[in-house]
Amino acid sequence: MIDDPLVKSLLLSILETEENLEIVKCLIDGIGTDEEIAEKTGIKLNFVRKFLYKLYDAGLASYKRSKDPETQWYTYSWKFDEEEVINIIKNSSELTLKQLNEELENEESNMFFICPEGHYRLNFENSSELEFICPECGEELIFHDNAEIIEELKRDIEIVENNFKSFSKKIK
Ligand SMILES: [Zn+2]
Repeated sequence: MIDDPLVKSLLLSILETEENLEIVKCLIDGIGTDEEIAEKTGIKLNFVRKFLYKLYDAGLASYKRSKDPETQWYTYSWKFDEEEVINIIKNSSELTLKQLNEELENEESNMFFICPEGHYRLNFENSSELEFICPECGEELIFHDNAEIIEELKRDIEIVENNFKSFSKKIK
């Protein structure tokens, strides 16, 4: 699961480095205490703790506290929440697709005009309101062919769809 590109980029956004992904690998393997994880990975104990709490804040890890009857010390046993990873990736893929499709529709159903100096890019309606004059510099707005933008959006949509498909296959 952790090698899936979507899972990996989600985890890296929280854990910052590839090395820290080892913390999640430990949790998945059932190694649940900060000390054990530090020992297994060679990552310093205070960093292990810091990143466990970051996972916790992101909703991707939870812990159980138990008291050692002899030493009276508390032990925290951590668990990785795979369900939540699946939820987050599902929701964010759906949101990204929705936004990209809206953008695509907007590009396909409008004509665009730009300032040659790059100040504005406006659709036909907004450009006519300004009488095709850039409000920033007074230059005349010129027609902007958006075929490339449309192609790029279609490619992006395909990439997001494919990544999500391959993720969905892995979690089944
Ligand atoms: Zn301008």
